[in-house]
Amino acid sequence: MNEKKIRQRLTRITVLVVITVAVLLAAASMISASLEKVGSNTMEEQMKSETEEYKINMLRKLDADTQTLQTLASFFEFSADTISYEDFAKGVYEANRHNGFSRMGYFLKDGTGIRVTKNQDIDLDVKVSELNENFQEIIANAWEGESGVSRIYYDEGLDKQIIAYAVPVYSYNEVVGVLGASTGIEVFKEILDNGTALYGKGYAHLVGKEGKYLIRSERRVVQEQEETIYDGSYLPEEEKSRIRSCMEEGRSVFSYFTYKGLDYRMYLEPLDVNGWYIVCVDTTGKGGGSLYTILLVTRITMYAVLTLAAFLLIYGYCLFKQNTRRLIKIAYHDPCTDAYNRVHFMEKANAALEVSRSYTGIEMNIRQFKFINEIFGRAQANRLLIHVKEVLGEKLGEGEFFGRDSADRFLILMRGTDQEEIRRRLLEIMESVGDFAKLKRLNYRIRLYCGAAFADSMEKVPELSASETLFLRTSFALKTARDGHQNNIWFYNTAVHKDEIMQNYVETHMEQALNDGEFKLYLQPKKDLHSGKFGSAEALVRWQTADGTMIFPNQFIPLFEQNGFCVRLDLYMLEQVFCQIREWMDAGVDPIPISVNQSKLLFYEEDYMQNLDHLIEKYKIPPQLITLEILEGLALENVDELNRKLSLIRSKGFRVSMDDFGSGYSSFNTLGKLQIDELKLDRAFLMELSHGDPRRQKIIMEQIVEMAKRLHISTVVEGVETAENEELISELGCDYGQGYLYSRPVSAGEFSEKYMEN
Ligand code: C2E
Ligand code: MG
Ligand code: MG
Repeated sequence: MNEKKIRQRLTRITVLVVITVAVLLAAASMISASLEKVGSNTMEEQMKSETEEYKINMLRKLDADTQTLQTLASFFEFSADTISYEDFAKGVYEANRHNGFSRMGYFLKDGTGIRVTKNQDIDLDVKVSELNENFQEIIANAWEGESGVSRIYYDEGLDKQIIAYAVPVYSYNEVVGVLGASTGIEVFKEILDNGTALYGKGYAHLVGKEGKYLIRSERRVVQEQEETIYDGSYLPEEEKSRIRSCMEEGRSVFSYFTYKGLDYRMYLEPLDVNGWYIVCVDTTGKGGGSLYTILLVTRITMYAVLTLAAFLLIYGYCLFKQNTRRLIKIAYHDPCTDAYNRVHFMEKANAALEVSRSYTGIEMNIRQFKFINEIFGRAQANRLLIHVKEVLGEKLGEGEFFGRDSADRFLILMRGTDQEEIRRRLLEIMESVGDFAKLKRLNYRIRLYCGAAFADSMEKVPELSASETLFLRTSFALKTARDGHQNNIWFYNTAVHKDEIMQNYVETHMEQALNDGEFKLYLQPKKDLHSGKFGSAEALVRWQTADGTMIFPNQFIPLFEQNGFCVRLDLYMLEQVFCQIREWMDAGVDPIPISVNQSKLLFYEEDYMQNLDHLIEKYKIPPQLITLEILEGLALENVDELNRKLSLIRSKGFRVSMDDFGSGYSSFNTLGKLQIDELKLDRAFLMELSHGDPRRQKIIMEQIVEMAKRLHISTVVEGVETAENEELISELGCDYGQGYLYSRPVSAGEFSEKYMEN
C-alpha cells in the first residue's frame, strides 16, 4: 500500500470517526431531548391535574357559599305583613352568627335594605346605590333571577379584601328581594396557599381576566409587588401576547417566565367565574423535582457516557493517526537525512511521470564517500549527507524532488529535458555540496558525479514502471560517470545502454518468468533431405513477457549460462518437450523426434541422469525421440569424462547431437573422439559460401560430411535460407536441413497444427 492509499484510508477513517462522533452526540442530544420532553410532559400533566384540583376546591367553596345563601333565601322572605323590619333584621343577624359570612344583607325592590355585620351591628338604613359597585352589579343580576359572585374588592368597613354573593329571594315565582353576603378572601387564599402544589415545589395565584393579581400566593418566587402578571420583565414579550390571546378566548395555556436567571414553568387555567384564572407556577423551574432530578441525572449520565465514548473514539483515532504518520515516516523517509527513501521517491516519480514526461532523472553520488566515512568519521559523513539534502532542498524548484537511496546515492527528478540547463544546475548543486568542506574547515575537496537520463526519450521496458526505467538508465549513466576524479555528469545514451537495460531486466525477472510459465516452447522443423519430408524438429525457447514482449534466446541464454539459471531453464524446456510428445501420443498422432539444446552446465549437475530417468518414467516416452544438443566447447574440457557421460546418456536411449559445429574451436580431432549420433554444421558455413571463398568452404564441408558418414554420424546443416543452399547440401550428401527456407521456429501449438495433423 503506498502513502497515497494510506492517506486516503486515513481520510476515510477520519470521516467515519467524525460521523460516528456526530451520531453519538446527536443520539445523546436526541435521547436527552426526548427525556426532557418526557419530563416536561409529565410535569405539565402534573401541573394540569393539580391546577384542576385548585380550581375544583375554589369552585366548591364558591358553590358552597352560594348554596348556603340560597338555602337561607328560602327562609328569609321579608313581608311587612308578617314581621317587623327590625325583627327581620335581627333574624338575619342571628343567621349570620352561625355561618361563615362576614356580612349579610337583604335588599328590597326600592333600592333599600338592611345589612348585618357578624357579631357587630345591624344597619337598617342601607341604600343599594351607596354600596360597592361590584356588589351592586350582582344585586342587579339577582333581581333578574341570577345568583352571582362579585369580583374581589376592598371593603373599608371590614378593612379587607372581600368577595360578595347575591341570590334572588322568591315568592310565588317572583323575585321579591335579594339576599347578599360577603366574605373575606382569606379562605380562598388558604386554598391556593395550602402548599401542596407540585409536592410543595409549586404555588398558585388567582388573577383576573386582565392578568391582575387577585390573590397572590405568599410562596411566590417573584417578590416584587407587581399589579399584573404582565408587569416586570419576567415574561418574554411573545409569551405575554400568547397568554393574553388565550385568556381572551378563555383557554388554558402553558407558559414560562425567567426570574433571576432561572426559568419557571407556569400554567394558567380558567376558573369559569368572572373570567378569573388560576396561575400555577412550578418553582422547580427546569432544575428540580424528583422525577425531573432523575431525568436530569439520567440525561447527564448518558451525555457523559456518550461524550466519553466520543472522546475515547477521538483519542484512539488520534493515536492511530499519529501512529500511521509515524509509520509512513518510517516507511517513506530515510532516517539519517529525513529525505524520501527510494520507495517513496520512486512512487512520487512514477506519479509525476504519468502526468508528464518532461523530466530528467538524476542519480548523484559522492566520490570516495567510503574514504570520507573512514577519515572524517561517520558523524561528519552523516552531516555531509544532511548538507546534500539541504542543498537539494534549496536548489530544486516547484514540482521537483529528491530522495536518498542508500549510502551516498541521491535520486533527483528535475523538470525539463534541456541537457545544457540540467548540466548547469547540477554543476551548481555540486559546487554548493562542495562548500561543506569549507564550512567545516575540512582540508578535502568533495566531488560528486551524476548519471542523468531524459524521460521524454524513454522507451517502455517490459514490466518496469516509468520511474524504474528512468532510474535504471540513470544508474547506467552513473556507472560511466564514475570514471574520473572531478565533478562529472554523464547523460544516458540509448545506444550505449540498451543491452544493459535488457540484461538488468533478464536478471531481475527470470525467476518469476519461470514460475509464471513465460518461457515458451517453439519448434523449428528439420527436413530429411533424402525423403524430402519434415521428420524432426528442434526445440527453441522464447520468453514471452506478460505484456506480450518477445525476448529471444541470444538476449538471455548467454546470461543464464553465466549465472547458472540455464540449468533450470533447460530442464524446464526438456520437460516441455516430453510433455509435447506425450500430448501427440495421447492424441493418437505419430510423434517425431525433437532435439533439445542442453547447456554445458547441465553436464556438471550431479542429478542430471536422475532427472532424465525421472522424465522417462513420468511421461513414458521412448528416449529415442529425444536428441540432446550439446555444444562443441564441452569437448575442450575433459573428453574422457564427457564421453563417459555421453555413453551413459546414449545407453538410456537418448540421441546426442553436437550443435554449432564449426563456429568455434572445432576440430576433426574432437569429432573423432566424441561419441555422438548427429553433427549440426553451424550456419556460418552457408553464410561463408555467399561471402567468402565458396570453393574452399565447399571442400571443408564435403570433408566434414564425409568424415561424419564414416563415423556413422548423421549431419544437419543449419541456416538453410535459399533453394541454392538446399541444392548444395543435398549435393554434399547431408542428411537434414534446418532453416528459414522451410520455416522459422513457431510455437508448439502452431507446429502441431502445421506438421502433426498427418
Ligand atoms: P541453435 O541451437 O544453434 O539454434 C538455431 C538458431 O538458429 C535459432 O535461433 C534459430 O531460430 C536460428 N535459425 C534457424 N534457421 C535459421 C536460418 O535459416 N537463418 C538464421 N539466420 N537463423 C536461423 P534462436 O532460436 O534465436 O536460438 C539461438 C540459440 O539459443 C540457439 O542456437 C541455442 O544455442 C540457444 N537456445 C535456444 N533455445 C535454448 C534452450 O532451450 N536451451 C539452451 N541451452 N539454449 C537454447
Ligand atoms: Mg541447437
Ligand atoms: Mg546451432
